[in-house]
Amino acid sequence: MLAPPFPFKSGLQRFLVVSALFATAFSAQSAQSEQRLPNFVILFADDLGYGDLGCYGHPTIRTPNLDRMAAEGLRFTDFYSAASVCTPSRAALLTGRYPVRNGMCSDTRRVLFPDSAGGLPQDETTLAEALKTKGYATACIGKWHLGHLPQYLPTRNGFDYYFGLPYSNDMDRVADAKLGRSIFLDPKVEYWKVPLLQNAKMIEQPAHQPSLTRRYTAEAIKFIGQNRSKPFLLYVPYAFPHVPLFASDRFAGQSPRGLYGDVVEEMDWSAGEIMASIRKEGIAEHTLVFFSSDNGPWLLFNEQGGSAGLLREGKGSTWEGGMRVPGLAWWPGKIKAGAVSRDLACTMDIFSTCLSLAGASPPSDREIDGVDLGPVLFGKGKGRRDLFFYYRDTQLYAVRKGPFKAHFMTRAGYGDEKAETHDRPLLFHLGHDPAEKFDVAKDHPDVLADLAKEVERHRTAVVRGPLQLEERIKSN
Ligand code: MG
Repeated sequence: MLAPPFPFKSGLQRFLVVSALFATAFSAQSAQSEQRLPNFVILFADDLGYGDLGCYGHPTIRTPNLDRMAAEGLRFTDFYSAASVCTPSRAALLTGRYPVRNGMCSDTRRVLFPDSAGGLPQDETTLAEALKTKGYATACIGKWHLGHLPQYLPTRNGFDYYFGLPYSNDMDRVADAKLGRSIFLDPKVEYWKVPLLQNAKMIEQPAHQPSLTRRYTAEAIKFIGQNRSKPFLLYVPYAFPHVPLFASDRFAGQSPRGLYGDVVEEMDWSAGEIMASIRKEGIAEHTLVFFSSDNGPWLLFNEQGGSAGLLREGKGSTWEGGMRVPGLAWWPGKIKAGAVSRDLACTMDIFSTCLSLAGASPPSDREIDGVDLGPVLFGKGKGRRDLFFYYRDTQLYAVRKGPFKAHFMTRAGYGDEKAETHDRPLLFHLGHDPAEKFDVAKDHPDVLADLAKEVERHRTAVVRGPLQLEERIKSN
């Protein structure tokens, strides 16, 4: 007798086996997509204040895309940048370490300048370098400000691709441009010689600033499209709303908040376009997006500077307005829509969170200050951070533990005011008094003693790196 062409006795049996085969294939595919390493996108504003987005209460700046990101994701109320000015803040974001550890701070030159000879030390491990060990594609599209000499550029720090300004958009000012701050009231492209780089090559000088946000957006979307099928890190540090403010024709003159509002609204548009491209490529469920700012608003510039909302002071200062910034996280299907976290968190935690989710190991021979935000983001428990140290340049000015913040020193962000050392530290309860108006030190000697002990423990343990911001390029 010939064997039957199909070894099943009944149609039902055949149906069951074929279904099982499909189910196995489907679950293998799900397991594969489950195992797929997540993409990370970090959108990073420059000098955007705590109060400058609709979802943080600004009455006239319109930010529907970032508001949507908050509504679909998680909004932090107590999120900090690790420094109150650009260079140290970015060094901390990308290394997960307080700037004092890698020397990316200074009491004489607060950031890197076009004549600076230093940059992020090569022995630091950046987020991009750590993710490269897991096969990530990496791009930095925007302002770098961690060293503009060839050996310090993003392409030497783990980024496959770079497009952007090597330092701030107000640097390389031309000698005959109008003097003083009035230059910022009516800025013209030709007042600054700041270059635009692609990888290590200068492609434009001066950079055409009104089109920067639009071009960054196009570059970011192109990178996402090119890397849709593999894990990637996309870091987008915008040029604005750092002064001088430039918006493209489409946004100029549109915002009820004036020019400052125009540039923030254009950045919001950019965030919306980048999120739309993530959705369009079908990778939203594999992509964690963060949005934050490198420091608080530059109050020195009046209407050209932003707002820290109800927080005290701004950029340059260790009062809350200098370092508490907007913090949003978005990951459909993983982060609960509309979540609000009052946990203490900071930009250094982004480093540790991404490494943890990618299964990459942090360097084991040094202290990492970031903590994994996973429990907070995914609603699986309390935040792991209970302490935050506020440095101004190389000096520790303040500490926060729980709702209490003690200031050992205070100083305005900019201006002539000298630093004031407090023999009895000032103490504020940031839950009751986020504006830091009412010193409650005399009511809580035990809290003050505990915070002083935390500071002492931290101070004695910190290994300070050689300072990187002071050396200048030798002129011939
Ligand atoms: Mg900044």
